[in-house]
Amino acid sequence: MAAPAGPSSRSAPEFSPEQIQALRLGLLQWWECNGRHAIPWKLRSDGTRPGPGEALDPYPVWVAEVMLQQTQLPVMLPYWQRWMEAFPDLQALAMATEQAVLLHWQGLGYYARARRLHQGARQLWASAFDPAASPADDRNGWPRRLDDWLALPGIGRSTAAGVLSTAFDQPEPILDGNVRRVLARLVAAPRPPERQLARFWRLSAAVLDPQRPRDFNQALMDLGSGVCTPRQPRCGDCPWRQACAAYAAGDPARYPVKERSAPLPFQVIGIGVVRDRAGRVLIDQRLHEGLLGGLWEFPGGKQEPEESIADTIVRELREELAITVQVDEELITLDHAYSHKRLRFVVHLCTWLEGEPQPLASQQVRWVDPADLDAYPFPAANARIIAALRQHLAPV
Ligand code: SF4
Repeated sequence: MAAPAGPSSRSAPEFSPEQIQALRLGLLQWWECNGRHAIPWKLRSDGTRPGPGEALDPYPVWVAEVMLQQTQLPVMLPYWQRWMEAFPDLQALAMATEQAVLLHWQGLGYYARARRLHQGARQLWASAFDPAASPADDRNGWPRRLDDWLALPGIGRSTAAGVLSTAFDQPEPILDGNVRRVLARLVAAPRPPERQLARFWRLSAAVLDPQRPRDFNQALMDLGSGVCTPRQPRCGDCPWRQACAAYAAGDPARYPVKERSAPLPFQVIGIGVVRDRAGRVLIDQRLHEGLLGGLWEFPGGKQEPEESIADTIVRELREELAITVQVDEELITLDHAYSHKRLRFVVHLCTWLEGEPQPLASQQVRWVDPADLDAYPFPAANARIIAALRQHLAPV
């Protein structure tokens, strides 16, 4: 099959019907032999593959799709398994406390996903599973329309489409990072996909096999994660090689074309692990807003220009907790990169001198025995602080 001639006008198809047929057939044949077929939420409860049009339980699919938003499948799989043991169905999640939900998300990052999943479960449980509603009411039960999924918190178009195509085998195109990369290479798009999303949604819809949407979308994701990988695509193993414009151009890894990005801002954060005479440590629960809202942490804050790290810790703990501390030895320094900034945490042990801790910039504060810290959900960087604290406290 010849590669497409390049970007076409806004609505003209990029491939002929014959080319589309060949793409579908080639991808699905490749997938039967090379795809990931043991993904538990894509199978019936007896472990066998569902037939065309057969519905699966949407709850595990929904949880998985949200976890996959920023996490690769091999990493999220054990989290998904533990989650399904703790919250096996929609009702269990809707009835859970936020603390339990965050604790089971701990380590996956981007905690807003967990909070929104929880909110969505409560919303669905209260509305779509109302026992008083008539079974004939199509708002009752799991939503089957894209718009109804998009109305839930934290659900974008690709996640909604992923749930519908996986759970109900509906012909909804997806456009996650893997799919964007494959399609950008297939047509050798000269601009970043983020700049021409409408074109990429059209492309994903055009190639989707309406007879086997669940399998096709999975095959496309498997191609992206296993063959058309970001740095070194294995074009020799690819079923779309004959049609791929980036392959024909001789430099597939150049696609997708990227925006030139500015360097991430860098900040130093002073953290105090404050201990009282009983050996307990002071932690606070962040406000609900923001990336890490609702999680627990050791108190601290940003270092100001010309300020020593000890002065930062003393100032921050006075401003945020109304306490005075003595800054003792350094416990650990660690760097952590988020998508929008890089942080360096400089952590010191501190002795509590005076002042009853007040939650002036948090939901609540608590003195906790170091052995009990596992009961609280912490961001990843704080988990390393806990490990350093335990090592420090361990008898030599
Ligand atoms: S031929 Fe290479 S670049 Fe093109 S879709 Fe396949 S793996 Fe990706």
